[in-house]
Amino acid sequence: MKKSTSLAMAMGWVFSISVAGSAYAQTVEIGTWAGFHKAAVSFTFDDGAPSHVTDVGPLFDNYGFKATFNLVTTWKPDWSGFQEMANNGHEIASHSDNHGNPMPDNEIASSKSTISKNIKNNECITLAYPNCTAPNKTTVLQNYIAGRICGNGSEVMGKNGPSNWAEVPAIMTGVEQQYSINFNSVNQFTSKMQEASQKDGWVMFLTHGLAGKNNNGNATFSPTDLSVLDGALSWASTNDIWVGTFRSVTMYIKERNASKITASTSGNSITIKLTHSIADNISKYDYPLSLRVKNTGNWTSVSGTQDRKAITTTIKDGYIYFDAVPNAGDIVISSGGSSTPTSSSATQPTSSSAVQPQPTSSASTITSTASITIEMEDYMEGGQGVSYNDLNYEEMEEHVNYRSDDAGLVKAGDGYAIGYTKAGEWFNYSVEAACEGQYSVVARAATGNSSITRFSLSVDNVAGSVAVDVPSTGDWDTYTDVEGSGTLKLSRGKNVVKVNIDESYVNVDWIKLTSDNAQCPVETKPAPAATSVITRFSLPNAPSKCEIFDIKGQHLKAKSFSAASPKQMWQDMSAGLKPGVYLMRYSTGNGSRLMKFRK
Ligand SMILES: [Zn+2]
Repeated sequence: MKKSTSLAMAMGWVFSISVAGSAYAQTVEIGTWAGFHKAAVSFTFDDGAPSHVTDVGPLFDNYGFKATFNLVTTWKPDWSGFQEMANNGHEIASHSDNHGNPMPDNEIASSKSTISKNIKNNECITLAYPNCTAPNKTTVLQNYIAGRICGNGSEVMGKNGPSNWAEVPAIMTGVEQQYSINFNSVNQFTSKMQEASQKDGWVMFLTHGLAGKNNNGNATFSPTDLSVLDGALSWASTNDIWVGTFRSVTMYIKERNASKITASTSGNSITIKLTHSIADNISKYDYPLSLRVKNTGNWTSVSGTQDRKAITTTIKDGYIYFDAVPNAGDIVISSGGSSTPTSSSATQPTSSSAVQPQPTSSASTITSTASITIEMEDYMEGGQGVSYNDLNYEEMEEHVNYRSDDAGLVKAGDGYAIGYTKAGEWFNYSVEAACEGQYSVVARAATGNSSITRFSLSVDNVAGSVAVDVPSTGDWDTYTDVEGSGTLKLSRGKNVVKVNIDESYVNVDWIKLTSDNAQCPVETKPAPAATSVITRFSLPNAPSKCEIFDIKGQHLKAKSFSAASPKQMWQDMSAGLKPGVYLMRYSTGNGSRLMKFRK
């Protein structure tokens, strides 16, 4: 790869692969930037200001963008507030222990260790030097994938980043007359991003506290207007810019430049191997790369998997687009939305927990409501590594006597739930669907964790997954109904639904899949709507009590409605709330439901 680097660069990261038995040459390309955007921009925020938690995080969340927050460990940062930010995908990085000038070399490792102990779901692998002065750069690069200096006149970098990863430059924003810093207009931000676009490049900004706020903590240097940041993000969102953290963009560049691709075709599918051999003790370098392949076969629908897990694919402008993680297993792109399943003992259903009757065969279908409940204790048979992956059976103090291949079940009311779950565990369920369609997800779940705990669902061989963010319910025996984001596509007949535990310690009792416009055979009676929790709550005119909580679970307001749909209640209740993410709970006397909204 080393020798061909300059050639690959000249070709815009196009790797040509000849496909055996095919008249055409198949080409797999890696996007210069995630999502094949024109340029990358990173926003970094120094000194752990409370205003970063109260104002900056919600602003970025509003756009779905991620930012980097650099903490000084002895300045008493709001660890739980920054933990929430990490849970939302923001980067929490080091800005030393004491903000010394220069930063002592021993703080390179110690600040990383303190942040790693206090912030979970976060790799602390970038460092922003306090006072713009680098400590020992060799030690920095033994602990971090990159270190940030301040402006050096070449802040708008090319697609390969800085000349030295221990000296990544950033533009200081805000106003500080004494140091002639004056970078506080939307135009100044957009012109730098435009410059980055022109060279397929990357630009990084360095911001302290916010102008006009009294909760900047120690971040009082060179304050920046929140409205200017808002304007910059708004421009980025409509001008094909990837807004990524310092960590994400660095990993993307390193992986993109080190990755090798091979591809082969067989019938209506392309199998792609994406690998790199970067090996250090800092990171696995597993940030997803964005790939595309020419839609030479003019496929009208496509599905994709990596390591047999569904990935999202998009057909656009003659290409098939998808994201994949290097060194994480074969990528298979197949013609057809839900066809061509990968044959394997790990994914073939061996037992059924279906609750729907077997459909009678019919050519004609009607659009109807359908719902399916999956009991979590009824995962498929096949054992460890085949139908489930249980990581901590020994950790459990007691076991229920429900099935011999117990993968960690706990009692939940009169039934059972999966419990003692650990990040990385998964369970496969065989689901017989009478009706094909897009199904929304409601899960009955509990967690005693203090912050939101995520698990997700995907359907074998169908692109996409649904995340379920379970808020703290106080303990592991208190269950609540939580709605997932997005929908799952089920085909008529057998589907394998995979439940992935993304974050440790969430109990799940059951999952209900509901479709309002499923395609059902005319002979099949759809599930009676009256028994469906979802249908009852979806009905307008249900008298309900409605409450709003912030993302930390703090109660903000309550109101009773005599006739309103969840959407109408949210429209009413959200008046006067600041932009951000909120939880709305509404109850009708025979149950309650929790939904997450973004304002
Ligand atoms: Zn600082």
